[in-house]
Amino acid sequence: MPILKSAKLGSSSSSPGAFPFSGEYSVARRKMVEELRLRGIRDERVLEVMGKIPRHRFVEEALISQAYQDTSLHIGFGQTISQPYTVAILAQSLHLRGHESILEIGTGCGYQTAILACLAKQIYSIERLHSLILKARSNLKRLHIKNVILKYGDGSQGWQQYAPFDSIVAAAVSPQIPQPLLHQLLEGGRLVVPIQREEKQNLLCIVRKGDEYHEQILESCRFVKMVGKHAFHDQAHESHKKEVHSGRKIFRPHSSNRRGQELPLPNRRRGHP
Ligand code: SAH
Repeated sequence: MPILKSAKLGSSSSSPGAFPFSGEYSVARRKMVEELRLRGIRDERVLEVMGKIPRHRFVEEALISQAYQDTSLHIGFGQTISQPYTVAILAQSLHLRGHESILEIGTGCGYQTAILACLAKQIYSIERLHSLILKARSNLKRLHIKNVILKYGDGSQGWQQYAPFDSIVAAAVSPQIPQPLLHQLLEGGRLVVPIQREEKQNLLCIVRKGDEYHEQILESCRFVKMVGKHAFHDQAHESHKKEVHSGRKIFRPHSSNRRGQELPLPNRRRGHP
């Protein structure tokens, strides 16, 4: 099973101390945080953590000077590190208090994973590109972040082994809500996922109330595609369902007993936090 244990940052988040490299680019990072505040980010814990995690250590050397601009940046393999505002809005919309178990889909270089690791108790993060999961693992290790378990695989299937989760967050857009994710949410749990309908992307927040799911659009957004069994198909990206979406709604997921399949990753450790 392709599970990569990662490094642990203070056992269970809540007040992040100093990080390796947090002395570097501290003025630029403070400025980034002030801009996030001006753009409407209100969760002080999110702002505090984003003021401490050294984003410049997650990007290629040639892009370091742009690391604290509010833009996404290339991390190779056709993927990008999300822009700081996007990471902040995703983290804020999860309403984290520090005790939560979170599933993240789309680890990328691990920047958002690092932020979430400081805000919740345990992060399970899945990435479909092997080279990126290795990069994320190394980035998290350098920051001594340990409350993360990484998996190389298809996050659209969730991670049944560790379900149910307090929250699930996707950093890649899907043409529909991946059904296994709904089933893997705890009662009262939140799923924050970007959904693309008719070329338009919206960030949705879905809250589970028993077997009902209350859906709300947070804002329009721009994410790279989630490619997987319950998302865009590898080759036929255009063949997604066209659904007109209208503000808030309540629905029930299709019943399904499909389980998230874990893809083999030889020579990697299997483990628990
Ligand atoms: N937040 C990340 C960037 C995410 S970019 C960061 O801070 O670096 C979105 C990522 O989702 C990409 O790395 C892409 O490879 C990954 N992805 C796309 N489809 C996926 C799937 N089905 N399961 C897991 N990861 C997926």
